[in-house]
Amino acid sequence: MSEPQINDMDNIDPSVGGTVFERFFTGQREAREVAPGTFFMTADYVNLAVFETSEGLLMVDSGTKEAAPAVYQEIRKQTEAPLHTVVYTHGHLDHAFGLKPWLEAGEKPRVIAQENMIARFNTYRKTGRMNAHINEVQFGIDAGLVQWPTEMDDFVWPDLTYKDRLTLHVGGERFDVFAAMGETDDASWVWAPERRIVCSGDLWEGMLPNCGNPQKVQRYPEGWADALEAIASVGADLLLPGHGQPVEGADAIRECCSNTAVALRAIVETTLKGLNEGKIHEEIMAEVEIPAALRKHAYLDPLYDRPEFIARNVIRKYGGWWDGWSANVIPAPMAERAKEIARLAGGVEPMIKRAREVNATDPALACHLAEWAALAEPESRDAQQLVIDIFKARADTEISLMGRGIFSHAVRKAEKSLAAMDSEG
Ligand SMILES: [Zn+2]
Repeated sequence: MSEPQINDMDNIDPSVGGTVFERFFTGQREAREVAPGTFFMTADYVNLAVFETSEGLLMVDSGTKEAAPAVYQEIRKQTEAPLHTVVYTHGHLDHAFGLKPWLEAGEKPRVIAQENMIARFNTYRKTGRMNAHINEVQFGIDAGLVQWPTEMDDFVWPDLTYKDRLTLHVGGERFDVFAAMGETDDASWVWAPERRIVCSGDLWEGMLPNCGNPQKVQRYPEGWADALEAIASVGADLLLPGHGQPVEGADAIRECCSNTAVALRAIVETTLKGLNEGKIHEEIMAEVEIPAALRKHAYLDPLYDRPEFIARNVIRKYGGWWDGWSANVIPAPMAERAKEIARLAGGVEPMIKRAREVNATDPALACHLAEWAALAEPESRDAQQLVIDIFKARADTEISLMGRGIFSHAVRKAEKSLAAMDSEG
């Protein structure tokens, strides 16, 4: 796997380790024949695979709506065979929204998905604006600019769903489709035994699994580990993932899938142990880690989510939302707390000074001080500037994309507050 090794959480230099999107981009914009009759390509940052059979094409995933016309053209440069079957590996926007150009060209594929995808699509119909807002926080994409799918026609709905496992025969060739719960509850992975090729969808991401996203619905580290162990067990010679580089060689596939499962299980085990011992959430967060023996593997770098984000998903699955601090069950509003802290400190100026002092040694504490200062006195330019400086520094040194997104959002919010003050004179 790619160097350098950066998953030692105590010793991370994000400037050298790459980012999620650097890992996701394979440089493979053209459809390439990676094995006889097997085509693989990356559309923007998401992959798809096409198996040509004597009866037509079996396509695994369809990419984004935006990339769909280019994907269609690329695949059609390689083969004119009819599109026979499509398997969505899950219902995310980057995997299940690229079929329109195929349908417009007159193709009539059967579209296969795990049964939970119907509920996912129906959830999307209710949460378009929420999803736009999440993406604004996560990636800085203006929520007003992105139209999320909410209408029936925005989706190409699956016409065949399955529960646990489905065996397909296309052109006399066997394809096994397996259900999984990992990043989503509607995941599928595809095994082509005669080609010894497995399509993992997002169950393999080439980094610590994105299994703790702070803003999104429940994710499933145990189901993810189950799926990775099942993928490791089939004996594939080539793994074609939903993002990033393929993994080649039976031993490499077995090892990296198994080790990732071990890392996930370790996080789950530590979290459950803490819950069983009655620990409060922050005590558990302080204990979860990637097992030391596995940290050398770049494919476990926490570039997307941190181990403690995954632990929070475990807590959400097994427990409730109360974090263990008694006042937090019915808390005072944050702004009131911030004003009280400022009053005790003798104003926001000492808080600003203290935040800048501690930032080098305790950036997490500095972030609290900055957020409190701006809440206590929102009209203070110095407080807003503090938020910008402290959270920008935090974002620049944060390894996880999800952490970085939220820190950067704080910067943008403070910049907007300053700009509003400027325009009011
Ligand atoms: Zn994806």
